[in-house]
Parts: sequence; C-alpha cells; structure tokens
Amino acid sequence: MWINTKKTVDNFKGNTVKTAIKPKITRIEMKLMSDEKLEDKIKEFKEIIDNSNNIVFFGGAGVSTESGIPDFRSKDGLYNQKYKYPPEEILSHTFFVNNPEEFFKFYKDKMNSLKYEPNITHKKIVELEKEGKLKAVITQNIDGLHQKAGSKVVYELHGSVLRNHCMKCKKSYSAEYVFNSEGIPKCECGGIIKPDVVLYEEGLDDYVVENSIKAIKNADVLIIGGTSLTVYPASSLIYYYKGNKLVLINRDKTGMDNMANLVINDSLGNVFRSL
Ligand code: ZN
Repeated sequence: MWINTKKTVDNFKGNTVKTAIKPKITRIEMKLMSDEKLEDKIKEFKEIIDNSNNIVFFGGAGVSTESGIPDFRSKDGLYNQKYKYPPEEILSHTFFVNNPEEFFKFYKDKMNSLKYEPNITHKKIVELEKEGKLKAVITQNIDGLHQKAGSKVVYELHGSVLRNHCMKCKKSYSAEYVFNSEGIPKCECGGIIKPDVVLYEEGLDDYVVENSIKAIKNADVLIIGGTSLTVYPASSLIYYYKGNKLVLINRDKTGMDNMANLVINDSLGNVFRSL
C-alpha cells in the first residue's frame, strides 16, 4: 500500500512537470504559493496547540534524525555494504539467537545513541508536557532521547537501548556496559545480556501498547511526526484516535495523509521551532 502511494506521488510529480496543468503559473510563483501555504499551516498548528490541554505526540525515526541518528529504514540510513545481511535480518529474534556475535557487532556499531543529544522537537515536547498540555509521548525510537530531554510520560513501542537484561538471571545492565563490552556482552552469571529492544519477530510490550492506546483514545489532539507510518503494528495504533485534530508532520507524504485534519510536509524541527 505504502509503496504504491509513493509511486503515485512520484508519477504525479512527473506529470505536473511534463504536462503543466496550469501553464500560467510559473515555477517561482508556485514556490511562493506553497511557502505561504506552509506558513498558514504552521499558524493553524499553533492554534490547535494553544487551544488544547490533551495532546499526544506519536513519533518515528524522523524525530531523531535531526539529532544526527540515521533512520536505518531509509535509503541513505544504516543500509550499507559493510554487513553481509540486511538490517531487518540482523535485528530479528532468530538472528540474535543464532548469531549473537554478528548481532552485537552491528548493534554496537549502529544503535549506539549515547553520544547524541535531543533536538528542538524533543525540547518543545518537554515544554508542552511541563505546561500540562501534552499527556504522553509514544515513540517508535529506541534511543532514549525524549527522556534525555526531560519528557516524563514516554511509551517506547520498540523498547530502549538504555535498558538491558541478562537472559539468565534478569540482572539489569546499563547501555554503557553493553556498548563498551567486547564481543557478546555477558552477565557475571555467564548469561548473555539482551537489550530491551523489540526485535523483528518479537511482540510489543503489553503494558506499553495498552497505555499507548489509552492515551490515543483519550487525546484531543494527536500529533504524528517523523514517521511514514509503515511499521506495523505501531502504525495501526493511530486508528484508536477518535478526535478531529489529527496533525501529521512529515517531510514526505505518507499513506495516512488523507486521514489527517492537518498535514504539514516539512521537517519537524522547522515546525516545532515556531511554537
Ligand atoms: Zn545473569
């Protein structure tokens, strides 16, 4: 479905250039028109935020890319020739069990978010929570940057690199311990330490899902940011939203744009900076 949508968008872009539906409008005028529209949309977004005390933010990889963390699903993200297997295979439960050494090589190389800092979007979200306007952050990211920025209510659908447990005795270990370990990180009992990150083939945490659904169901405003909404089951959560102020902020179009009441195709940083 999503791939088709992208194709449609590309075709549409191609068509407008070639067939020039409105030949009297020059390219420069079109650019000005779209900028003005963006300004209006950001103004509308501000009004929605100002008038609500029950906002929920649902974020994806795009929230963290502006902190420098690459999106491993995007073309210019983590995909490269360095590993023999695609990231989705390495980050699967089967691979972790059968090939922990290779898993941790990739994991320590690509998933270490400790050196990154929260950006303007993380910070503005903290301000909204402090003002009592924002009730929860639901995130697909595992980097812990919302908490690092100061957010209190964060539901991490895909877990977090900051929490790690021994698979044998359940003892907790810090992210520093795991990222700085040699080879496979081991507990003092000899067990393998597994990051509390939801791998492919693994289910989401019930507590996190239930609370995310509750927050979305009760939300007056739902802001979805920095996600193309392609990752199931996380993306299906937004269907629980019952309100009429669904704001979608993403640089590119998404397959969910027609569901939203306000779509802003811009970087999250640009939009949140203006709040
Ligand atoms: Zn142990």
